[in-house]
Amino acid sequence: MSLPVLQNFIHGKFVASQSGNSFAVKNPASDEDIYLVEEADDALLQQAIESAKQGFAQWSKMTPIERSRILLKAVALLRERNDELARIEVQDTGKPIQEADCVDIETGADVIEYFAGLAPAQLGSQQAVGEDFFYTRREPLGICAGIGAWNYPLQIACWKSGPALAAGNAMIFKPSEETPMGAIKLAQIFIEAGMPKGVFNVVHGAARVGQWLTTHNDIEKVSFTGEVGTGKKVMQSASTNLKEVTMELGGKSPLIVFDDADVSQAVSAAMLGNFYTQGEICTNCTRVYVHRDVYVAFLDELKTRTENNVIAGDPLDPKVNLGALISKKHQQLVLEYIEKGKLEGANVLTGGHALSPESAPNGYFVAPTVFIDCTDDMSIVKEEIFGPVMSVLVFDNEDEVIKRANNTELGLAAGVFSRDIQRAHRVIHQLQAGICWINAYGNSPAEMPVGGYKQSGVGRENGVETLNSYTQTKSVYVGMSQIESPF
Ligand code: NAD
Repeated sequence: MSLPVLQNFIHGKFVASQSGNSFAVKNPASDEDIYLVEEADDALLQQAIESAKQGFAQWSKMTPIERSRILLKAVALLRERNDELARIEVQDTGKPIQEADCVDIETGADVIEYFAGLAPAQLGSQQAVGEDFFYTRREPLGICAGIGAWNYPLQIACWKSGPALAAGNAMIFKPSEETPMGAIKLAQIFIEAGMPKGVFNVVHGAARVGQWLTTHNDIEKVSFTGEVGTGKKVMQSASTNLKEVTMELGGKSPLIVFDDADVSQAVSAAMLGNFYTQGEICTNCTRVYVHRDVYVAFLDELKTRTENNVIAGDPLDPKVNLGALISKKHQQLVLEYIEKGKLEGANVLTGGHALSPESAPNGYFVAPTVFIDCTDDMSIVKEEIFGPVMSVLVFDNEDEVIKRANNTELGLAAGVFSRDIQRAHRVIHQLQAGICWINAYGNSPAEMPVGGYKQSGVGRENGVETLNSYTQTKSVYVGMSQIESPF
């Protein structure tokens, strides 16, 4: 049986690539090819640029309220098609439908809605200078590139296009080659909502296509989500014409559980922050530091709940809460980390192996895994694994745990559980991380800026500052009196 073919989406329609190169997308829960994707060749990429120039010319001239109206129509369509879109995300990513159904599309739509509301409220400033004055305008940058990772494909496309388009830019989006369908659905929805052609184009491919975009002179900004190493390459390519960059990269985030914490709540947070989306979340708290006095109670509850409450299987089954990892290769990588953990002396409290659930026997599953007796120098404690693998470490005092939590080149997120509010804030203020939670973990509303410290990122997504980052300030000085000149 021949597979359906997904083409590139440029200027409001699907466009055939002349090169004839294509690649297959697999369903991670079944190991089956589900569709083919045409890779964008250079001529097609140039076509995407020409189209975006036309889209930008039209879109940037519209008033923010007019743009907002179209974006809000797209938001309504996203919500209306939630179930259909959620199933697409499940087939591309392997994540459970019970997550995609209430998180992926909704949080994507929320962000577009937030920026659609914010854009018309964005004001310039005016300042008197004696008789003269100046004013500032916030103008769009032009054509931006969005490059996405595979863990939240549609959500990432929404988080990047929302602020970019609300501010009047055009965007060429390259989804991950592993999960390209969600961004195409978004592009179609934008057109249906009345957006001018060329404002949001989607091109397919891997590193070559990404690099083509990040080096192109007509692109003014790159917003990238992916690994630290790829992010460094993107920044280097972006320097060709000094593009602006936003980098949402990897993490190895600490969760600190103090002796006065509500242990059950802390266990909930640790499980959410390690097993949700089968561990493929950048902000995951993969280093869980537990105070010695509550260590045994914490481990007891963690083991019981992990062994009794996690259900792996066909991710389209609404009861399943642990899906398949994105690819066989990634599953192997996660299993190699588990073996390294064992070799380096950590002990497995639970899990520690691949899974082959009855309802999805060929899927790339890994059992939810908890390592104990970990030390700070182990590979599993230092490196991002991006799978359901938690390392639990014991600590004795506040200064010690802050130092250990900060001993990493990454700084994406951090969490603290304590009933002492002064301690919770005091500790959080000393942690080198961009996204922090107190007695919570993982919540990311559209209003809250998110992004990393240190090598976890550059710039922010969501929140007011992100809209500003898709604009440039023009200052206009107005002379009201005679010019004084020695000439
Ligand atoms: P990746 O770096 O392998 O790929 C990301 C994207 O970059 C893909 O679309 C890929 O095709 C493209 N790409 C690859 N090489 C490129 C190049 N040379 N130039 C331009 N583009 C290139 O990352 P991944 O495996 O897709 O995603 C997992 C990583 O993403 C993890 O490290 C995770 O922590 C991170 N992530 C971060 C956030 C965040 O918001 N901070 C969110 C999700 C994922």
